[in-house]
Amino acid sequence: MTPRPSAAELAAIEAARLGVWPALADALLDAVWLVDAALLQVAHANAAAGALLGVPCEALRGRSVEMLAATPEDLAFWHGVRCGDADAALLSDTWVRHADGHLVPVTRRVSRVAGGPGSDFFLVALRDCSAQRDAEREREAVIADLRATLESTADGILVTDLGGAIRAFNERFAILWNMPRELLARRDDAAVRAWMRRSVTNPDAYERRLAAIGEATMLQASEEVALHGGRMLERVTLPQCSGGGPVGRVWSFRDISDRLAARRRIEQLAHTDALTGLPNRSALAERYAAALAAGSPFATLLVDIDRFKHLNDTFGQPFGDRVLVEVAERLARCKREADTLARLAGDQYALLVAGAGRDGAQGAARRLLEAMQRPFALDGVGFTVTCSIGIALHPHDGDDMDALLRGADAAVHAMKDAGGAGWRLHEPRDDVDRLARIRLDHAMRQALARGDFHLHYQPQVGLASGEVVGCEALLRWRDPELGDVPPGDFIPVAEESGFIVALGDWVLGEAVRQAAAWRAEGWVMPVAVNVSALQFQRADFVERVAQVLRAAGLPAALLELELTESILLHDADAALGRLRALDALGVQLAIDDFGTGYSSLGYLKRFPIRRLKIDRSFVRGLPGEEADVGIAQAIVNLGRALKLRVVAEGVETEAQRRFLHDAGCDHYQGWLFAPALDAARFAERVRRR
Ligand code: C2E
Ligand code: CA
Ligand code: CA
Repeated sequence: MTPRPSAAELAAIEAARLGVWPALADALLDAVWLVDAALLQVAHANAAAGALLGVPCEALRGRSVEMLAATPEDLAFWHGVRCGDADAALLSDTWVRHADGHLVPVTRRVSRVAGGPGSDFFLVALRDCSAQRDAEREREAVIADLRATLESTADGILVTDLGGAIRAFNERFAILWNMPRELLARRDDAAVRAWMRRSVTNPDAYERRLAAIGEATMLQASEEVALHGGRMLERVTLPQCSGGGPVGRVWSFRDISDRLAARRRIEQLAHTDALTGLPNRSALAERYAAALAAGSPFATLLVDIDRFKHLNDTFGQPFGDRVLVEVAERLARCKREADTLARLAGDQYALLVAGAGRDGAQGAARRLLEAMQRPFALDGVGFTVTCSIGIALHPHDGDDMDALLRGADAAVHAMKDAGGAGWRLHEPRDDVDRLARIRLDHAMRQALARGDFHLHYQPQVGLASGEVVGCEALLRWRDPELGDVPPGDFIPVAEESGFIVALGDWVLGEAVRQAAAWRAEGWVMPVAVNVSALQFQRADFVERVAQVLRAAGLPAALLELELTESILLHDADAALGRLRALDALGVQLAIDDFGTGYSSLGYLKRFPIRRLKIDRSFVRGLPGEEADVGIAQAIVNLGRALKLRVVAEGVETEAQRRFLHDAGCDHYQGWLFAPALDAARFAERVRRR
């Protein structure tokens, strides 16, 4: 009887049977076990196999392969082996079950190997694929995310490789390019590219640009692509890089048509006058720049509505606005295609007449004035609007917009001074005048602050009695540099600049203060004060008069206000209200320069007027000139009929005085009796009598 082999002897026999395989298996990183081909039991398993299945590797030894087989594929394989399929081999992705129950993805190869002499084995090698699977799953998730992102962006996206082949695109891309689904489904890159080329307005430039981008693989660019039908796409392209080098290109497209339209609208608004829709000053500046750059002569016509303020004040601003619009329309109809008509400000328009010299400009001015001749009719109100036009010529009068507009403006002012309703070419003298006006205005303001203004008083005398019945306060200004400046020179400038309001207020205060001082001395001397339109139109005028009287303690009856007809006509209703309020205060009212304005007898009856003043210009020709005789007599008769007093001014001769006396005029003032004198000399002269 053979003695039982010792454990060591058994181990040695087993080792001989297994040959090199266990050592080899232990040296591998993959999980490996050896299956005895005869017994179909595990003969050896390496440490990695133990780890993969979650059991000590020794514990695997002796297990039947069916116990380890987790899938039908494995069972079928081992079944085949049992049935004698000696050369069976297996390679596939499958699962093994870990001791804790979870399935581990593996790639598994089973191959038959020869062991020691007379023994055969199957080598089962398994590679754990969990990490790889995880990575794949992650990649799929990332791709899904990217896909979702791609589809959810508002931009159309196209991804191409370096050769231009389409690799990806989103839905929005197809929509932006208006591409038929069918075309994209075909996956015909050439057809897609042809479609895009056909969609753009300039296919040649488009193609050239694409070629250039194709050359420069790292180029980043953003540009606009115009499509037929007016739409505009913004195309941004970036290289797509991988592993440090470009592998393709990402194109994104965005419809910027609305944005461009909005931008254009804003630009247009910035360049148009909201009221009339005409180009505004900044648009005009661009036309000037172009006209100046072109180098050919052109004319600037500055059109200013005469007495627009009057219209505005009389009928209200909305009405004035409609007049401005209608004037704009009429002027626009006169201009040629190449000319530019702009509204500069308020009631000022500028017409740039391309290619025009002196004659062309005058022709254009004539056309504009003609267009204004037709009467206006708004809200059943019929009226006429006249304009003053100043003309400046390029290059004669200047070589930039400012100089030309300034020149034309000076000409407009000269035209207005001459009565308006006409055109005038710029003359260098106008600039001097304009500058002189500005200087004068400045000097006046300083003079008022310094106290350089004074009042002189001219007596008004009863024609029948020879008694002094009152006086007119007249402004006097002696400037340290300019010397004596006559009111006829500075009053119009003050009226134009608005300074007359402050100046007139000073006159009112000073005259009332003087009359009150005389009265305090026991001398009752009514004083007449000239009031300018701007001053009278101030909302607080009546209140101001009341305040001045109160402050000086002068009875209102001793103050007379001299108003011109035009003041009363400007805004007849407002004027009437104001006159009534002044009348209620007890202030006397006179109409100055009567007969020189647009006399309308209607208002004389309605307004609480006490006196009419026959203007100096009608007195001059008395008694020899027939026209003056007629006018003077008519005014006196009118005064009689309306129970108004009549005072004649500018009486220089005894003959004039006698005529007026005989005609029935009530009072006179003039050098015949006395010029305007300062307060002291006035008092001395009048009291002495
Ligand atoms: P006006 O109101 O018609 O004043 C009468 C002008 O005739 C005054 O001229 C006066 O000095 C002048 N004058 C008086 N008698 C004679 C005469 O016998 N012969 C001649 N040739 N002239 C005579 P002045 O002072 O130069 O004032 C001119 C104009 O200036 C005034 O005309 C008036 O419209 C305006 N003005 C004067 N002072 C004021 C004022 O305080 N406020 C306002 N708003 N205007 C004033
Ligand atoms: Ca006067
Ligand atoms: Ca006068």
